[in-house]
Amino acid sequence: MPEFVEIRTEPEEAKPELDVSFELLDLDLLKPHEELDPNELEAFIESVTSSGIFWKAALVSKEGYVILDGHHRWAGLKKLNAKVMPCILLDYVNNPEVKVYTWYPFIVGSLNHLIDVLKNIKEIDIIYESSKDIIIEKVENMEAAFGLIHSDSNKDFILIVGDEDPYDLQKIIIKHLIDDQRIQLGYIDTIKGAEELLAQRKAVAYFVRRAPKKKEIVERASKGKVYPPKTTRHSLPFVPRKIHVPLDKLLNP
Ligand code: AMP
Repeated sequence: MPEFVEIRTEPEEAKPELDVSFELLDLDLLKPHEELDPNELEAFIESVTSSGIFWKAALVSKEGYVILDGHHRWAGLKKLNAKVMPCILLDYVNNPEVKVYTWYPFIVGSLNHLIDVLKNIKEIDIIYESSKDIIIEKVENMEAAFGLIHSDSNKDFILIVGDEDPYDLQKIIIKHLIDDQRIQLGYIDTIKGAEELLAQRKAVAYFVRRAPKKKEIVERASKGKVYPPKTTRHSLPFVPRKIHVPLDKLLNP
């Protein structure tokens, strides 16, 4: 099983499950807004090919057919030469029921090694900063690509800055982290959850980042530009009930 760590602290089980209608949309019609995590892509392909069943419809915006949730399903189906994907079409930009948050990348491994990796990335500079509040403020104002919060009380926290667009800098950083054999990268849904990982010594550090706004997401995707992996986490007030579509039907609709 490929290793992919995603931790959800806000339980989906608390939400009502609803039957939501879906459509089989042409894969080429859909526009991604995020890069992929290679481990998550592999995990999906393994899951769908071993069961032969596709059970989770993607979420897609009516505005511009942007994939909101389902990038690895979309890319995995493409790789398997499928033609269509089950999608739930949503009114998006002005729909208060659809909320956008982010996933926080966290690191398992050595903090010193992580800082060395960051120092060797030529496109970025690191600035030490002791206040978590200032880190969060600067990240929210897009004055820094990432803030790095860690577990070593003898070191200041870190702001990561550079000349490029903050999301492009995040992409560069995440690529280095994925490529590094001594670091394991995971994602968690809340800062509170990330703080608990540090307190329980299950992670040595996590990155804070700003969740993009809905309009920005549609604009960026329409231009063919994408965010780093798992930049957005879309949330609905309900959980769409599982579907049961044979993979064959997506390969030969
Ligand atoms: P993403 O498409 O980016 O949301 O990431 C892959 C998603 O595929 C994960 O949320 C998994 O829950 C989901 N998944 C795993 N196996 C299947 C399957 N056989 N059919 C549909 N979705 C799946």
